[in-house]
Amino acid sequence: MKAIRVTQFGPPEVLQSIEIPQPIPDQGQILVRIEAAGVNPIDTYIRSGNYGRLPELPYTPGSDGAGTVLAVGHGIQSWQPGQRVYLAGSLTGTYAEAALCTPAQIHPLPENLSFSEGAALGIPYPTAHYALFARGHAQPGETVLIHGGSGAVGQAAIQLAKAHGLHVLATAGTETGLELVTLHGADAAFDHTRLGYREAILEYTNGLGVHLIVEMLANVNLAHDLTLLAPNANGSANAKANTNGRVLVVGSRGPVEINPRDLMLRSADIRGVLLFNASQAELSSIHAELQGSLRAGQIRPSIALEFPLADAASAHTALLTRGVNGKIVLRP
Ligand code: NAP
Repeated sequence: MKAIRVTQFGPPEVLQSIEIPQPIPDQGQILVRIEAAGVNPIDTYIRSGNYGRLPELPYTPGSDGAGTVLAVGHGIQSWQPGQRVYLAGSLTGTYAEAALCTPAQIHPLPENLSFSEGAALGIPYPTAHYALFARGHAQPGETVLIHGGSGAVGQAAIQLAKAHGLHVLATAGTETGLELVTLHGADAAFDHTRLGYREAILEYTNGLGVHLIVEMLANVNLAHDLTLLAPNANGSANAKANTNGRVLVVGSRGPVEINPRDLMLRSADIRGVLLFNASQAELSSIHAELQGSLRAGQIRPSIALEFPLADAASAHTALLTRGVNGKIVLRP
């Protein structure tokens, strides 16, 4: 089968398409034919060698994908060949024509979703859910700013927050991105490349600020985020009641300086979010809830670009450019 192989960390060109034997599922494993693989920013950090946890070389990148079950190993009762699935993790990498998975890594792909849409679920939707609800304790009626709403995690966060009854503000950096965040349900959209957009956000909230911020680029925005949080939101400074303002740091590409007084004044919290820190029980519960929302049509990913598998290098280059507006997928 065809697969992308990385034999040394480096620029996108280290993503080479090669022919390797198709894996055979061992006990407790499932082999999935990959129809679409989702490309995530973390794939680019790992490929460049610039990430805390690196795989042994050589490796096949990718944790997200969608396709059909090809074969199951001994002891697998719950999956049969032919079933449509999406992958949130794999044992052998999803940038390939087939990938081995554990049962916990695959989930049914509802019929109303395409394989490319399925490949857009694995990391972005659970991350947005984990940020908003497990880490952020988002409540209906609160106002949330999705800072970076046009990307894969941002769009998921907009949809999930709207479905949960929040008032949603979102930012994007292009006209198309602004249209897209509105299409996904944002009540108001702001251009994060425009001078004065932060003031416009405060003005929109009548100077009150927002209860929650889901932050995709903390190294640029965190210091300003603190000034956009509502002071003692919901009338209480009781952090235990989760009614104070909170910033959920989902993405950051460097260090940042903040003024702690902006936190103190508002009894605010900065909370780190890392999907890999979610427990298996939390992940199972998140995916179960996502299934319901996907089937009901409350949430649906949007695909920005599709590349042939062999062109994975171009997909990585595209992902790191601004204004992509949605998920990039590879089609084997
Ligand atoms: P993506 O699809 O590439 O989206 C990136 C987003 O950042 C876009 O909406 C982009 O908007 C926006 N952005 C660019 N400049 C910005 C600025 N100055 N202020 C605010 N937003 C800005 O990436 P993704 O998959 O959504 O991931 C987003 C971030 O979260 C990445 O850093 C990723 O590594 C991280 N992440 C973390 C976790 C975790 O567990 N913590 C999980 C998944 C992803 P425009 O293009 O419209 O300008």
